[in-house]
Amino acid sequence: MDTPIKLGIIGCGIAARDLHLPALQKLKHKFEIVMVCNHTEPKARAFAELVGGVPYVLDYHELLQQKDVEAVDIVLPIHLNYQVTKDALEADKHVLVEKPLAANLTEASAMLEFEDRYQRVMMVAENFRYRETFHRLKSRLQSGEIGAPYSVFWNVFHLVDSSNKYAQTRWRIHHQYPGGFITDGGVHNIAALRYLFGEFIAGNAFTRSINPEIGKLDTLSFQFKTEQHVNGVFNVFFSSNGYSENRVIILGDRGSFLIEDNTILWQRSGLPDQKEQIDDDGGYIEEFLDFYNGIRHQKMISSDFREAFRDLEIIIKALETADSGLSVRF
Ligand code: NAP
Repeated sequence: MDTPIKLGIIGCGIAARDLHLPALQKLKHKFEIVMVCNHTEPKARAFAELVGGVPYVLDYHELLQQKDVEAVDIVLPIHLNYQVTKDALEADKHVLVEKPLAANLTEASAMLEFEDRYQRVMMVAENFRYRETFHRLKSRLQSGEIGAPYSVFWNVFHLVDSSNKYAQTRWRIHHQYPGGFITDGGVHNIAALRYLFGEFIAGNAFTRSINPEIGKLDTLSFQFKTEQHVNGVFNVFFSSNGYSENRVIILGDRGSFLIEDNTILWQRSGLPDQKEQIDDDGGYIEEFLDFYNGIRHQKMISSDFREAFRDLEIIIKALETADSGLSVRF
């Protein structure tokens, strides 16, 4: 039997505690957390205790020097992804780094060269690539249930204000990357849209800032077209005070899907609606399993740096069209 991967976690904040740790606790036969790191001691200590009393360090270089750490899970402010990933690969560790790949396209493209330079598994924790809802949806689209899909609308209307846990992280409010919350959250939706409808080929966007308390931008309306002849609009309004929704509408020439709360509603004119509730835990367990299989069984991972680069490139270029007033070909 394969031994568990000895894992070091760098960054002991919200995502490490609320998203990664619960998945890792279900995968104890695959991963053993051997050390954690946070640059501020109270958070490092509290997380180390939560993990079960593992050692902690305040400087990630110290964690990277540990011979028994085989792989690292980087869960840091986005602007640190490039340097810490590079240092981890230099130290011969396999890397799982949280999305978005990097803080800008210059650093993200430099990271694309890592694959040739380092013989380690490198993966981006884009959990939407592993969500069962999108796997089910893709297979239902491929089986032709709604005929040829021609349009998709994804609305994320939600208020993010200073009471939101993510808006309490200083690095998000004083973001050192374009788009703030829009980029941070929007890469997820772009990843899912690309998975379902193929590469984006053109688009243009409008942006607004309604609540400057949460950074420079909170509102994006992005119209696009994909290589599979699907036109779409992605609206992400973290400024929506009162009204709230997160739904995807897909129109095909023989029916439509409405996706909300991990439920797929299939509607066709003249026929009864059909509903499927998907067991979707957010994809975090599948994501770690993919990382594990990449390391232990040399399997191809789904969420490589190339995919994450493309997600980031699309959202950043969409934001640029809002500034320039010109549409973009991707
Ligand atoms: P967070 O709560 O601020 O966590 C980041 C942690 O890193 C903090 O505990 C911070 O400590 C620590 N840190 C900062 N600089 C450090 C350094 N140089 N060395 C060691 N530790 C350092 O942020 P988060 O919400 O967890 O987000 C972290 C990452 O996860 C981001 O990439 C984000 O996009 C991603 N994320 C993904 C999802 C998802 O669903 N996939 C959801 C949320 C977040 P201090 O707070 O003490 O400065």
